[in-house]
Amino acid sequence: MAARKAKGSTDPELVFVPLGGIGEIGMNCYLYGYGPADDRRWIMIDLGLTFPGEQEPGVDVILPDLKFIMGERKNLDGIILTHGHEDHLGAVIDLWPQLRVPIYATPFTAGLLKAKISEERAGEKLPIKEIPLKGRFTVGPFDLEFVTVAHSIPESNALAIRTPAGLVFHTADWKLDPTPATGEPTDEKRIRELGDEGIDVLVCDSTNALRDGISPSESAVGNTIKQLIKEANQCVAVTTFASNVGRVRAVAEAAEECGRELVIAGRALHRIISVSQETGYLSPKLKYHDQDAFSSLPRNKVVALLTGSQGEQRAALARVANKEHPAVKLARGDTVIFSSRPIPGNEEDIGRVLNGLADQGVRVITDGDALVHVTGHPRRGELEQMYAWCKPKCLIPMHGEARHLEEQGRFAKAKGIPLVVQTRNGRMVRLGPGEVKIIDDVPVGRIYRDGNLLINANEDPVRQRRKLSAVGIVVVSVVLERDGELAADPDCIIDGLPEGVGKSNSMEDIILDAVEGAIESIPRGKRKDEDRVREAVGRAARAAVNDVWGKKPICKVMLTLL
Ligand SMILES: [Zn+2]
Ligand SMILES: [Zn+2]
Repeated sequence: MAARKAKGSTDPELVFVPLGGIGEIGMNCYLYGYGPADDRRWIMIDLGLTFPGEQEPGVDVILPDLKFIMGERKNLDGIILTHGHEDHLGAVIDLWPQLRVPIYATPFTAGLLKAKISEERAGEKLPIKEIPLKGRFTVGPFDLEFVTVAHSIPESNALAIRTPAGLVFHTADWKLDPTPATGEPTDEKRIRELGDEGIDVLVCDSTNALRDGISPSESAVGNTIKQLIKEANQCVAVTTFASNVGRVRAVAEAAEECGRELVIAGRALHRIISVSQETGYLSPKLKYHDQDAFSSLPRNKVVALLTGSQGEQRAALARVANKEHPAVKLARGDTVIFSSRPIPGNEEDIGRVLNGLADQGVRVITDGDALVHVTGHPRRGELEQMYAWCKPKCLIPMHGEARHLEEQGRFAKAKGIPLVVQTRNGRMVRLGPGEVKIIDDVPVGRIYRDGNLLINANEDPVRQRRKLSAVGIVVVSVVLERDGELAADPDCIIDGLPEGVGKSNSMEDIILDAVEGAIESIPRGKRKDEDRVREAVGRAARAAVNDVWGKKPICKVMLTLL
């Protein structure tokens, strides 16, 4: 006993560190580390992105900040991808160059990633190692096993993670669905076996922890869509998440049964269909037309499947709603089925699309009207089932905002799980041996992909853009002679400010008067002090605008001393 104690922190232990995905839905990125505290080997589970909101103007996507693991890069043995959703693999292409380790994934996920690489970074090669479904493999000191789970994309995998410090079951995204549209149901038998082997820690999806009951099956959605297409007299368009291959197949089958031709519009759908045909999730015989065929087909003999279920302005459906689509045009009497649910934050964009369609007399059916969508995440009834199979000693809720995580924690305790440990991005949990508890904090953050560049979320550009969007900008130009006299009248440009103030005054005149006054107030001999001149001019311009407008713009001063 004394000898053990003397070793102290050098005993090998298993730790869990979320870099993204706990405290938010999106940007999933989890680390597991094994070894003595000063010499751990690491694996990364998933490397996903999240989408920007109104607070991040101009940002394309948001990625996890990897600075912690970059400091440990020589000890990182691999990235394991659980499935092909963007919130789990969307950051790989941008961030892999910082890590340069092998990537492990099942064939469909690997195929999707390869298709994305060839579209976005043609010629680039990433070391992707394909692992078969239910495959067991080792990465560094970790003995890993993929366990099949149902979700809303083919090949979602949970991971059994074995180390001498215990067995962890990391569920990734899952639901229970006895009749999924593609692939096999959640592997109850294998999960029960793992439960019997002894799961020390269950790290579990919290997305739907606020919802009671059991989510309906994917096959019920297929039946509803079929019925709706049968009842329609004119053109039917369906939009869904492109990655939901089961839904794509259900729409294709419904079209065929109703004697209609399938038309596909949107790059993401073409990509997913070709990967699905290569990996066996869609039949190579699946018949569909490209969007150009739309106009030549009888309107009552078409089902158009479109990208854009989240109202994305550049996707096919928004362009149809704006009457800007080059091929697909809808009209009064047509039907659009939203086989999806709004991701929080997208409601306004979706509303614009709904209104555009309504203006054209198109009937819209959403998941509020009929069972045209089901979630891919477990509700409370399904969580309870998972707990019963796993019988874990401890639960760590993941994949959720704070309210989802806390609710799963309460629910799990009520269902008899002995210990629940809540963590958040950056909080390191020791999973074993011994008591499961938070032991450290590591740096975490967000990286913006902004055009061709990656920038830290704490840097200025996006904050400035937010400010610009609220108050606009004034640029003042001042040229001074050697003796401090103005070489010419000051000039200014305004952008994003009201131009006129009252009947006679323009904003520019108000600014220029204030600028001249500010320069005159500086003794001529002191006007060589550029900082002083710049500051006085900027302050005067902002104050003058504030006097009439009640808001202070961003102000930049260009000063030239001759
Ligand atoms: Zn997912
Ligand atoms: Zn997810």
